[in-house]
Amino acid sequence: KGFSEELCSFLESGIYRLPECNAVFVDPVRVLNCSYSGYKVSASRYYSRTFDSCGRGRGTSPEGSDSFGSKKGNRKKRKRPVELNEKELVAEKRHQELRPFLVEAHDALLGTPDLLNAFADLMRDEHSSLLEKELEQDFVEIGSLWQAPLYEISLHFGDSIEIQDEGLQTEESSRKRVVPIFNNLISNNTSKDMVTEFLNWRYIVPNRSSFYMSDLRQIHGVIPACSDQGFSLIVIDPPWENGSAHQKALYPTLPNRHLIYLPIQQLVHTEGALLVLWMTNREKLRCFIEKELFPAWAVSNIQTFYWLKVKPNGSLLGQLDLFHHRPYEHLLIGYVEPKKTAPESRMTFKNLPDKQVIISIPGAYSRKPPLGKLLEDFVPGPKPSRCLELFARELVAGWTSWGNEVLRFQDSTYFCEK
Ligand code: SAM
Repeated sequence: KGFSEELCSFLESGIYRLPECNAVFVDPVRVLNCSYSGYKVSASRYYSRTFDSCGRGRGTSPEGSDSFGSKKGNRKKRKRPVELNEKELVAEKRHQELRPFLVEAHDALLGTPDLLNAFADLMRDEHSSLLEKELEQDFVEIGSLWQAPLYEISLHFGDSIEIQDEGLQTEESSRKRVVPIFNNLISNNTSKDMVTEFLNWRYIVPNRSSFYMSDLRQIHGVIPACSDQGFSLIVIDPPWENGSAHQKALYPTLPNRHLIYLPIQQLVHTEGALLVLWMTNREKLRCFIEKELFPAWAVSNIQTFYWLKVKPNGSLLGQLDLFHHRPYEHLLIGYVEPKKTAPESRMTFKNLPDKQVIISIPGAYSRKPPLGKLLEDFVPGPKPSRCLELFARELVAGWTSWGNEVLRFQDSTYFCEK
């Protein structure tokens, strides 16, 4: 169709590097699709929030209808709270310094209409399969029951069986195995996606992925036997406390101090790791991370990336200058050196870019965009990288995912067959 090279590459990879700025546009659905051999992530399920809006007649053209706000209007209204406390003033100053980078990134997106049109096509194609809100299994609740250790999941392997796990209980045929679902490292070491069944619900486990579903108290189950089997990319999206009733309804939170005891050093590969931490916009939290959490985890060379949230027409998800509802989130990125490294043999890591802006349309349930592909050039150690996501709600090919509801978005209703 005469698409530019970058657009063709985006249609395959889900990643579009915007011209003349430090920003990328990401379509998580396309990125996640690269994880599956036999399934496709359903765009209408992933973007159900947005589809819902579209279904009620809201426009998806870049010019935008009023219901999505005007093209750049969101950035013009500068509302400032009457009085800011000391920490809020620091946050506001940080925002003012960052603002030009966000505006530049956003303008670059609006200046790439082909990209937004390609995105609108995706929305139109799948619109007919718009699903009503589906019922989902509550793993957090089931996992907290007394009988949780007794619950089992059945794994159905496809034709090619290259199972490397040991000690799995064999049932009827070699294609079906039944194993405990909680507090157990479960791997699909085959090159094909695997269908699993738990209490008559089906979950898709991508090829070459592993998961461990447990509470924080059992996280030691993810620690590898030797550090040369440790992880070289670790993404963490903690359930930060923020007091919002909305968040409380989504998932349980953890006091910040509990995170200090995450066994980061025991998880890191002998050649070090790139660590990514999602955080909220609160300045108090940033102080805690910089002064206590990162020193405890031995994270250094820290840079900040930003996730800028937009609507399908390219307009910002909210007003850029609205203090308590910024349309962006921060990610802190740094390197972790294994503690045993002698001072004379300090490791050298690649320089990370600062103020990289990642733009995407947020999925339902505040899902974060997948980061592995964007960061792969900076990951130290052997290739393919050994990747770990903590507090995950989805699985990715080549990754180990841990959390108390790690199969949440693997429910088969989030997929269509290829
Ligand atoms: N990055 C994820 C995504 O994009 O879907 C969202 C992660 S969400 C911020 C935090 C997750 O941590 C939730 O799934 C929550 O249930 C889980 N969580 C909360 N307390 C936990 C605990 N004590 N142990 C394990 N996981 C916990």
